[in-house]
Amino acid sequence: MSVTTDLCAPLAVLGHDVQVPLVNGEKVAYAALDYAASSPALQRVWDDVAAYAPYYGSVHRGAGYLSQLSTDLFEQSRRTVEEFLDLREGDQVVFTRATTDSLNLLAGALPAGTEVFVFETEHHASLLPWRRDGLTVSYLRAPRSHAEAVAALDTALAGAGEGTKLFCVTGASNVTGELWPVAELTRTAHRYGARVVLDAAQLAPHHRVSVRELDVDWVAFSGHKLYAPFGSGVLAGRRDWLDAAEPYLAGGGATRTVAREADGSVAVEWNSGPARHEAGSPNVIGAYAIAAACRALSEAGFDALEAREQQLIARLKAGLAEIPEVKVLSLFGDTPLLTDVARVGVLSFVVQGWNSSHFSAALSAEYGIGVRDGLFCAHPLVRTLLGGEEAPPSECGAPEASLPGERSLNAIRVSFGAG
Ligand code: PLP
Repeated sequence: MSVTTDLCAPLAVLGHDVQVPLVNGEKVAYAALDYAASSPALQRVWDDVAAYAPYYGSVHRGAGYLSQLSTDLFEQSRRTVEEFLDLREGDQVVFTRATTDSLNLLAGALPAGTEVFVFETEHHASLLPWRRDGLTVSYLRAPRSHAEAVAALDTALAGAGEGTKLFCVTGASNVTGELWPVAELTRTAHRYGARVVLDAAQLAPHHRVSVRELDVDWVAFSGHKLYAPFGSGVLAGRRDWLDAAEPYLAGGGATRTVAREADGSVAVEWNSGPARHEAGSPNVIGAYAIAAACRALSEAGFDALEAREQQLIARLKAGLAEIPEVKVLSLFGDTPLLTDVARVGVLSFVVQGWNSSHFSAALSAEYGIGVRDGLFCAHPLVRTLLGGEEAPPSECGAPEASLPGERSLNAIRVSFGAG
C-alpha cells in the first residue's frame, strides 16, 4: 500500500525508527495512523531518558549528589516546557499525568461560583471536568464556522454574570483535525473578563503554541500525544487561582510546614507555585521525557514539520476524494473535501454502505493499516457531524450497532504527524 509507506515517511524526520509489527509480511502502519490517540515516543526521547537513568534519584528531598542532579534535571525540564510554550513572566508549569488530569486540576482550582463556557463539541476531557459543585457550566451549541463560534461566545458572555468566568476551548479537534480560532475567541473572552484555558492536546504536537501570542490564560497537553511516553502532561499558565486553591493532592511536597497544634490538631501551610499541585514523588522521568520531546520538536522546527504534514494531508484528502462513497467529516467546511479550513493531521470519515467498525477492522486485517473507529470521546461532536443520529450508549471507541448498508453511527479516523 503506497499510502501506508508514505504516511510512515515522516517518522524519519526526527530520526524516528519505530519497530513496527508485520501483518502478512507487510509493516503495520497503525502507529502512524493513530497519532491523535497516542503518538509513538521518538527514539531520541527514549535515548534521552536512557541517558538520564544513571542520574536517577529522588527530587526536592535528598542532599546526595544524585538527588541534587535529579532535581536539577526535573527543574530544567520545567524550564524547557516554559520555553516551548513561550510562557509569560510569572506563568508556571505544573507537571500532571495528561491533559485530562490538567483540566481536572484546573477545574478544582476555579474560584467558587465560576461560570464555565464550553462548546458541546469538545473532547470529553475538556467538556466534563467542570461539572462539579460550586461551578455552573454553559454548553454552547456546535458552531458551523469560525465566525459563528466567536459570535456564540460573545452572545453567551454578554449574558453572563459579573463573577469569575472561564472559557475552555480545544485548539485542534481530535475528530476533524480542524483548527479553532483560538486567538479570536480569547480576545472575545477577555473583553468580558473571562479567562481562557486552551486544550492543546491535539494542537501542540503539530503547531507551535505560544501562550504569549495566543494570550490564553492556561494551556494543557499530554506527553503521550507529543512523542513522549505515557504518563505525563502539563498544565501551564497563570499562578494566582492555583495558588489560592486547595492542593490537587494532599501530601508531601505540597506542604511548606506541617505542625502539631496545642489542641492536638495538625496545621498545614501549603506551598505555592507548581509544588502546591505536585504532591507525592513526581513523575520525574515523565517530565524529563516531555522536555526531550519539546526539544526534539523545536529543533526540527515547526515550519518544516507543518509543511511536511500539510503535504500528507493534501495527499490523503486527494486520495479520499477519488472514492465517491467516502464522506469526510467537517464542522467548519460545507464542502468538506474542498474546505480550506486549516487542519492538523487528523481526519475522520464514513464510508457509505459500510459499518465503520467493520471497515476499520478490514483495513487492519487485510491491509495492515491501523486506524481508529468510534466516537473518539467526543460524542456530541460526532453525533452532530453524522447528522444528528443518536450515538449508541458506548464509551470512546465502542463498535457501532448498525449493519453494513445502514447509516453510520460512528466514524473512522486517520491521524498522523510529522514528528
Ligand atoms: N483533549 C483532546 C482534544 C484530546 O484529543 C484528548 C485525547 O484524545 C484529550 C484532551 C485527553 O488527553 P489524555 O487522554 O492524554 O488525558
